[in-house]
Amino acid sequence: MNNDYYTSFLDTANKVIDNNNSPAGFCLKDLNIPLVAADKAVRNRFKLALFRSIENLDENLARFEKLFSNKHNAVFWATDYNDVFDNLKKLFKIHKAKSVRLPNINSSTIFRELGIKYFLRDNKIDLLEEGDIQFFVADILFADTGSILLLNQSNSNFSRLNNGKTNVFFTSIDRIVCNTEWAEIYQQLYSYKSGSGAQDMIIFKGSENCNNYLFIIDNQRTNILHHKELRQSLTCLECGRCNDVCPVFQTIGDEPYNNVFVGPVANITLPYLETIETYRHVAYACTLCGRCEEVCPINLPIRDMIIDSRQSLLADDNIDKEDRHRLNAMRKFISNRKKMNVSNFLKHHLLFKYISSDYRKSHHILPFGKESFNKAYKKLIENEQRNKN
Ligand code: SF4
Ligand code: SF4
Repeated sequence: MNNDYYTSFLDTANKVIDNNNSPAGFCLKDLNIPLVAADKAVRNRFKLALFRSIENLDENLARFEKLFSNKHNAVFWATDYNDVFDNLKKLFKIHKAKSVRLPNINSSTIFRELGIKYFLRDNKIDLLEEGDIQFFVADILFADTGSILLLNQSNSNFSRLNNGKTNVFFTSIDRIVCNTEWAEIYQQLYSYKSGSGAQDMIIFKGSENCNNYLFIIDNQRTNILHHKELRQSLTCLECGRCNDVCPVFQTIGDEPYNNVFVGPVANITLPYLETIETYRHVAYACTLCGRCEEVCPINLPIRDMIIDSRQSLLADDNIDKEDRHRLNAMRKFISNRKKMNVSNFLKHHLLFKYISSDYRKSHHILPFGKESFNKAYKKLIENEQRNKN
C-alpha cells in the first residue's frame, strides 16, 4: 500500500463520513440477512468509519472517556497486563471482593490475551455465578456517546449490569467507533463468530446502582499505529471468516502461532504485538492467494498489509543503529551519480568508511564494477554513434 493510496483512502473516509453524518438509514433492517449478502455500500461505509476511528484514535478515546466518566464510572488506562492486574488488585481490596462472576472465561480473546484465569487463580479469587464483582467484555466503545457495546448478552445480563454489584469491563484501545449508530452493523458483521446469527446486544452507559470500571488496554497495539500502512489491521472485527478460508491457516492450524491471535490478521499484527524476533516468520505464513479478502466483510487489504509488513520487518532487520546510519549514508552515496563516477579506488575507500569492520566481517560486500554504469552506458552510446558515422 503506497502513500498515495493511503492518503486517498483517508480523504475518502473523511469525505464520506462528513457528508453523511447520520448513517442510521444504512443500518440493516433484517437481522437474519447473512452477512455476505449485506449491502456492499453499507460495509464499505462502515469500513471507512472504522478506519477514521483508528486514524483519530487519541481524539476518539479522549472523547469517549470524557463522556463515560462520572461519579459511578471510571476508566483505567493500561499499558499492559501488569497495569491491569495491579489495578484489579486494588479494586478487589477497595470492594473487599473475594470472587468474580465471569462466565465463558475461555471464549473471550481479551481474557485469554490477559491470562485472566491465571491472575484469578494466583490471587485465590473464586469464580462464582454470584461473584462479588462482575467481569464483562466491552466489545466496542462509542466515542460520540461514551457508551459501551456488549454483544452476546442475554436479558438476564442486562439486569445484572444494574444489580448493585461492581462491574468491571475490559477492552483494547482499537475497539472504538466514532458513531453509536453503527452498533447494529457491527453486531451483524461480528456475529459470524458465534456461528448462531446475530447476537443480542446491550448498549450500556452506566447506571447509578453500580460502580463501573473500564480497562482500556494497549498491550503493544500502539506499535502497529506507528506503521501507518498496517493501521487498518486494527479495524479487524475478529469475526474469523478469513481463518476459515485461509489455506495456510487451515493447513497449519493455530498451534504454530502459540498465541491467542492466529490466522491472516495475526500474520500482520503479531510481530508488533509481541516481538519481531519471535514472530517475524508469521509474515511469511501466506501465499498471497487473496481468499481472505474475498470473505472479509470490511474488505481489509490483507495481502497489501502482509507485503508492507514484510518490507517493514526487513527494514528493521536486526541492524544496529550505527550500521543503519552508515548504510543510509552509503545509500545516499551510491544514489549520487557524480559520486559514483569517481575512481574505483576512491569509491572503495568511501565505502569502507561507511561500513563498520564488524559488518564487513560478517557480510560479503560486493565490489564496485571497474566503472560506473553511467560511464559505461555513455561509452556505449558514444561507440554506437561513432560506428554510425
Ligand atoms: S492471502 Fe495469505 S492470509 Fe489470505 S487466505 Fe491467502 S494465504 Fe491466507
Ligand atoms: S480480517 Fe476481515 S474476515 Fe478476517 S477476522 Fe478481520 S474482519 Fe473478519
